[in-house]
Amino acid sequence: MRPETFLVHPPRTDGEHTGASSTPIYQSATFAIDEGSRWDYSRSGNPTREVLEVQLALLDDASHAIAYNSGVAALAAVFRLVPRGGTIACAADLYGGTFRLLDLLAKDHDWRVEFVAINEPDARTRLEQVGADLVFVEVPSNPKLFGCSLDDVRQAVGTDTLLAVDHSMLSPLVCRPLALGADIAVQSGTKLLGGHGDVTAGVVATSRDELAEALRFRQNAEGTALPPFDSWLLIRGLETLPLRLERQLANTRAVADILRQHEVVTHVYFPDDPQQQGPVVSFTTGDIAVSKQIVQNTRLFRTTVSFGSVFSSISLPCEMSHASVPESLRAVSDIPVDLVRLAVGVEALEDLIPDLQAALDSVAELLVPAP
Ligand SMILES: *Cc1c(COP(=O)(O)O)cnc(C)c1O
Repeated sequence: MRPETFLVHPPRTDGEHTGASSTPIYQSATFAIDEGSRWDYSRSGNPTREVLEVQLALLDDASHAIAYNSGVAALAAVFRLVPRGGTIACAADLYGGTFRLLDLLAKDHDWRVEFVAINEPDARTRLEQVGADLVFVEVPSNPKLFGCSLDDVRQAVGTDTLLAVDHSMLSPLVCRPLALGADIAVQSGTKLLGGHGDVTAGVVATSRDELAEALRFRQNAEGTALPPFDSWLLIRGLETLPLRLERQLANTRAVADILRQHEVVTHVYFPDDPQQQGPVVSFTTGDIAVSKQIVQNTRLFRTTVSFGSVFSSISLPCEMSHASVPESLRAVSDIPVDLVRLAVGVEALEDLIPDLQAALDSVAELLVPAP
């Protein structure tokens, strides 16, 4: 079945007999341990979370999906598959929280972290030289939205190397990393999957049984699973993911066109390849004061971090989502201070475009030289 279909027909929870059309929320920490019962404690397993994980595995074309209480918890679990003293190779443009997490964990685990410009022609040689235990990339990268060919990356890394791909920006509807050769697909459920800015969640999907087993063992030991109500919010969010995403992508392409044509915009960051396009577009103006003014002057595009929700938002990554990049990695992440990031929602273009246009025009007036 296609995602449009199976996402609105989630499986029944184990033991469900009422015929409820909405997945029941098993808001229970404990379950009576009767003979043959599958459930005992929600940290280890919960019927509502299980329904979600079935849906997530289908969506990512994976044998296993594990739901975490945030995207960074999912990422931490993936990174920590790397042995003490091991090496991680990463793309150089990453989500701000991922830089912070890597920096923290690398110190704890004595890892060597090598940053590779993954979309440069010499990326392959660099990856071969680094010889990492884990290669980690985002598709597309955040916030500069560089695309990358997973095929090329897979060919450049040996078969002993784990390839993990963060596709939060695209969702599995646009990109299924496992089908493209990745061992692990990881994403923040807070963004497109939930889609309403009301839940933080993360997902790891894999078809390698031994990895899934290791991840599940640790999730139970450490207590990072997604709670029942949050699992339900995600199940519900997923039902409309195909509809929301289609609309958001159409809106984002229209917004990118407006930006490309406007005189105050010096560069638009948006992938050409439709397979790398998500509901986010970034741009620069050449002047941080001008960028700040634009962020202040939009009304529908509210100033919030994050993306992938039904509502549009605007932010300055350098000061917001990427303020968490540690000082030592600022040069690696190299985000222009005047970069503005737009997350595009499902609103009517008739309302979104005039709002953005007015904010851009307001600064254009500032730039007109005095007579
Ligand atoms: C937001 C985000 C994360 C972290 O997810 P949280 O749910 O905020 O913990 C990881 N990767 C990318 C690409 C993100 O955008």
